[in-house]
Amino acid sequence: MERDEVDKLMNDGNFCIAPWVHIQNTPEGVPQPCCIFKPNIIDGHTPRKLNDAFHGKEWGELRQRFLRGEQVKECDTCYNKEWLSKNDEKDLNTSTLLENISFREHLNDMWREDAVELINNPEIRDIDLAISNKCNYACIDCGVDRSSMWHAEEYDLDKIIPRVGAHVASFARTIKPDTGEPLIDSFEYADVDWSRVRTLRCIGGEPMIDKRYQEILGRIEIDKAHIIIVSNGSVPPTKSWTEVLDRAEKVLLMFSIDGIGELGEYVRYGLKMKRFTRNLQKWAEYIANHRNPESKFRYHYVAHAMNMLDIQNTYEYLLQFERLKENCGHFDLSFLHRPEYLNSAYFPDKTKEWILNRIKGELYEDRVRLHFSTNEYNPDHIDNFFKFSDFIESRRYTMPDDIVEVYERLMEDHVTERRSHVST
Ligand code: SF4
Repeated sequence: MERDEVDKLMNDGNFCIAPWVHIQNTPEGVPQPCCIFKPNIIDGHTPRKLNDAFHGKEWGELRQRFLRGEQVKECDTCYNKEWLSKNDEKDLNTSTLLENISFREHLNDMWREDAVELINNPEIRDIDLAISNKCNYACIDCGVDRSSMWHAEEYDLDKIIPRVGAHVASFARTIKPDTGEPLIDSFEYADVDWSRVRTLRCIGGEPMIDKRYQEILGRIEIDKAHIIIVSNGSVPPTKSWTEVLDRAEKVLLMFSIDGIGELGEYVRYGLKMKRFTRNLQKWAEYIANHRNPESKFRYHYVAHAMNMLDIQNTYEYLLQFERLKENCGHFDLSFLHRPEYLNSAYFPDKTKEWILNRIKGELYEDRVRLHFSTNEYNPDHIDNFFKFSDFIESRRYTMPDDIVEVYERLMEDHVTERRSHVST
């Protein structure tokens, strides 16, 4: 293919370069075209080496679909995001690393220059890498597929509400049947020519507690590479990390934080606020002084049924860290869609009104209102919310007051709403 044909293709509004350059490795060793493509084009239970999948039949077929100009239905998350931003709506997408552009647009922009070479000769040069589910947290919106810490609870919880096969983390993942071991590992499936990789997204589990990520960073030409790390903030900038990251062409470090204080520690079980604060300060300083001023440090907040009232608090807490440079401190907010029982859009109208009153005038009031408008009250999901939170409380520790307040309010409105449904 020649440059003019490629340019035409890249501007057709549907085309995505992902299958020619990008791939995601999951802890289970099942590759995917990208983290938001769903359902996967290969069977979700059979591990495959990255290169085998990338040069296999399914990837070939996907490329043909894009070459034909097809609007690939598995890519709806990207197309919807583009539609929303073009129609001047606020972004409701769950993948906010990129603010107002879709992952498709991001990848197309990033690889435009090399597109002719790649389309004629596909090659893995951009990877989302999750080599294991090793994690030291068990966040309430996660599951055993991404956190080894969830193992003890996952299958007991499944007896109460469906977990195995159900979506967690919005639509991105499903929980697979028990492998018998807390640790799921797919390092052996990541058979890539690392010297050719130019973008490495370290996802995890928690990538900073798995030293093999450093080993991989040592294998790539890091002075030409963009390194993206999504972390829970439990690890300080130790020498073993900074020595490699110092040499990276560009670094994007993102800390997940879904609330502060007791609430934050409850919803991101494993979080120690004081330690997190210390690490945050150190990493922000590190990124602010990185050799590339375009390196970035950001925060990501996932809003769900337990932390809707803590968005502004968290934003303000983060403000206390001096924004050392323009590149530090961007706050990304997204809303959890699944599991549905943690999606606040299914709350009764009265609970939604109560929350909106409580956050009146706050920075994210409109975003919350918009999120609430995406779904209507669903009594079954709310029943499951109580089952879920009771289970978590019985297995961990007593819910902090800030969550109890929402729990009780929700219970009151749910009972009233149910009663009115029965009597009508
Ligand atoms: S269009 Fe979006 S969902 Fe589809 S492969 Fe590209 S980045 Fe992934």
